[in-house]
Amino acid sequence: MAYRITLIPGDGIGPEVVTATQDVVSAAGVAVDWEIHHAGIEVAKLTGSPLPLPVIDAVRKNRIALKGPVTTPIGGGFRSVNVTLRQTLDLYANVRPIRSLPGVDPRFDVDMVIVRENTEGLYAGLELMILPGVAQSIKLTTERGSTRIAEFAFRYAKKHGRSKVTIVHKANIMKISDGLALDCARRVAVGHPEIQLGEMIVDAAAMTMVRDPNRLGVIVTENLYGDILSDLGAGLVGGLGIVPGANIGDDAAVFEAVHGSAPDIAGKGYANPTALVQSAVMMLRHLGEHDAGDRIERALTTLYRAGQVRTRDLGGAASTSDFTRALCAEIERPR
Ligand code: ATP
Ligand code: MG
Repeated sequence: MAYRITLIPGDGIGPEVVTATQDVVSAAGVAVDWEIHHAGIEVAKLTGSPLPLPVIDAVRKNRIALKGPVTTPIGGGFRSVNVTLRQTLDLYANVRPIRSLPGVDPRFDVDMVIVRENTEGLYAGLELMILPGVAQSIKLTTERGSTRIAEFAFRYAKKHGRSKVTIVHKANIMKISDGLALDCARRVAVGHPEIQLGEMIVDAAAMTMVRDPNRLGVIVTENLYGDILSDLGAGLVGGLGIVPGANIGDDAAVFEAVHGSAPDIAGKGYANPTALVQSAVMMLRHLGEHDAGDRIERALTTLYRAGQVRTRDLGGAASTSDFTRALCAEIERPR
């Protein structure tokens, strides 16, 4: 039976990398009934909203979405599409595997994961100007939010065969808020004795990511630290063209690349689809399609190791469709 998955092509290079990813999933032998819904700039022009309600309802109904980058129109009082989707569907866990592909950046061989809390912290949007010239941002930390993200990280580690979770915090300075998050994570850790536990202050974690990233295993951390460390991670493994991501809640999950719509190269046919393809690998594993996920991942590794077919962002000359064709051929090659 085919999976029913909501597909949001998005803006800029979105439709190009989305089409490529559909081909790859199909080459891996997974039947999907893609339910296409549009969001973004063009939709805002037509409907007045970049994220119409039916799109949110469709994600909620199918519980799984694959999403291209969506640009939030500037001005007009639009809320960020990505933030709205995360908050409305309570997609509290942002998961970013940071993994080197062979030959892309030989200085590093990284294999770690960042699990970022997606709904609280300084990103809860509680900001005010308390006096002229004095602004205040409130960092919101709750026991419920801190516990469920820690629980998610430990379960993720177990499910994906990872032996260590590192709690990243700044509880030495923010004793009350980060102190609460740290306490919650430690309590959760007690219930997972088979997973090795690490704790690290966020500044030390930044240095460790650059010097010895694989020591960290799965990082679990609050919103702002996770945001910054994720981009550091993307930089470590060769940039935006390859880093995948997922936003996961109890009722729905949205899989998307870390990069934006890249308007400078949109429509030219040379965007790198690897980031969204790797997001689709996460999606397939989320659905329990481990064989298909493994096949795509192996094919990507083989293709990058051979080094013949590369898109321009990584110094090659291949177009999006050249790359996709080579990847599909590798996936379909009898082993
Ligand atoms: P947005 O406003 O939607 O976030 P942006 O201008 O910030 O878009 P990003 O997509 O975030 O653009 O990335 C910045 C730059 O990195 C792009 O302009 C593009 O040159 C490059 N880039 C990003 N993603 C890819 C990709 N998949 N393939 C090739 N180059 C990419
Ligand atoms: Mg951007």
